[in-house]
Amino acid sequence: MPIRVRLVLLASIAILSMAIGTWLIISRLNDTRTNVEREVLHNNWALDCSSLIHYLQRERGASAGLIAANLKDFDTVKKMRSDSNAALDTLFDNPLATEHRLARLGLADLRVKLMEIRNGVDRRSTDWRRLRDAYTALINTLLGAVSYEMLHEAETYSPKLDVIAELALAREALGLLRATVNSVRGQVIRNTSDQIFIATELTLYRHHLDVVRTHASESEISALHSAVDTPDYTWVMDAINRMLSKHEALIAPPDGDQWWERSSRLIDALKTLEEDLFDKLTRETTEKVGIQKAIVLWLSGAALVTLLILVGFVTITIARMMRDLRELSTALDQIVEKENYAIRLKDRGGRDELSHAFQLFNRLLEFTDRLIRDKETLASMDTLTGVMNRRAFMKYAEREIARATRYGHNLSLVFLDIDHFKQVNDTYGHATGDEVIKIFVDTVKARIRDSDLLSRWGGEEFIIMTPDTGINGVKNFAESVRAGIAATRFPGIEHLTCSLGVAQWKPGETFESFSSRADMALYEAKRTGRDRVCTG
Ligand code: GH3
Ligand code: MG
Ligand code: MG
Repeated sequence: MPIRVRLVLLASIAILSMAIGTWLIISRLNDTRTNVEREVLHNNWALDCSSLIHYLQRERGASAGLIAANLKDFDTVKKMRSDSNAALDTLFDNPLATEHRLARLGLADLRVKLMEIRNGVDRRSTDWRRLRDAYTALINTLLGAVSYEMLHEAETYSPKLDVIAELALAREALGLLRATVNSVRGQVIRNTSDQIFIATELTLYRHHLDVVRTHASESEISALHSAVDTPDYTWVMDAINRMLSKHEALIAPPDGDQWWERSSRLIDALKTLEEDLFDKLTRETTEKVGIQKAIVLWLSGAALVTLLILVGFVTITIARMMRDLRELSTALDQIVEKENYAIRLKDRGGRDELSHAFQLFNRLLEFTDRLIRDKETLASMDTLTGVMNRRAFMKYAEREIARATRYGHNLSLVFLDIDHFKQVNDTYGHATGDEVIKIFVDTVKARIRDSDLLSRWGGEEFIIMTPDTGINGVKNFAESVRAGIAATRFPGIEHLTCSLGVAQWKPGETFESFSSRADMALYEAKRTGRDRVCTG
């Protein structure tokens, strides 16, 4: 698999994993937020139940009182019924009041049951105790629904819920006391079960308040104190205690209106306390929702920015790496296929590993290039004199012949050989011989043109090809070389001469034939006394 594909694959996997991880975290947080929002909904539902309980309690008290006293005044009861109806509508309008849910909580036929009870009141077909118990049964179902709500539905259980539930129960006990006492007011209680009922509800009321005190926070306890430590509370408790005391046990408080008002105020105070707690709970929960929302928002934003940075970084990195690798691969192709060591990779200017590798690669190319050029130079150069060797000369000579052929130019050749060089070696030593050869070459070099090709043909014999030169020109040139050598002072040697053979190229002639004519001319020069120029 190409590196490009692998890198892209790897980056995609990394980006995808991060995206999935972020999505998981965010959806998890979102779930928590949804739960908290659900909690608010459930709180509201419980509050609606609690309101309905409150109005049913009032309706119960008033209705029981009406039936017990056999009164005709329905106005108060009607008012309370309409309050209950409003609370019932609110509860049934709650989004949580689905048919399924109402059935599960035993509230589906709440309206029907309430109508039945009210019909009983309207027709006077029930006594106040049965009426009270019928209302109580409804209220208990609602209390059960609230408890169920708190225990089974609330995701995060708050101790406040306990306090609220206990307050509701205390309120119900007080409500029952209100209804019962309201029904027997001004009478001598002959029914012992009423007395037991009152005693039981009083105990329950106290018990529930005790439980409230155990669960409540300090501020809640002090709120409870200010709600119940009122003249109403003292008056109500005194009235109940008097009804239960030995001497006045069987006499209900005579002042019915005062009883109703004062006990209702006490119940209302408890209700307000309960509502305050609900409010506080909802506020806390709403704050939690706000915090959760903010966290989700910030986290989503941060994740998105990080993801974008990651994508950008990965894309740029991969693109750069791919561009560099492509350049490297193209360069390697050229080197291998065309043996072109002259190319260089672009300086990336960075300080990363690839930049470093590129710099080293360029240095390697420079080194190789130099090595090859050195090798080529060495291969074509005579090491003693620095002029080209016979092999290199042949290459250029063929090229000059081709040019002369194409353009019809003149071309001439000079063979030159040092005279009696063997004697120089024999007399002065090989090292001096070498020095003589070098000075000889320098002397010749000083007389040739840039376009002339000078080469060591072998030993102390040299060859010069002179482009654009005819036979007269080459003869003159050869003569000047000869004279120049003859006039040169070679250290340690008295006199040195050379013989030269020249020839002009004939169009169509091969190098072999051309050079052999010049060679023959040189031979002729040697043969006819040396230190001269002969033409071939
Ligand atoms: P002629 O005038 O006929 O050319 O006589 P010659 O002595 O120059 O010719 P010959 O071919 O007999 O001798 C050439 C000598 O040049 C023989 C060889 O040792 C010497 N020689 C060839 N190459 C070198 C070299 O590189 N250095 C030195 N010192 N001597 C060389
Ligand atoms: Mg010689
Ligand atoms: Mg020779």
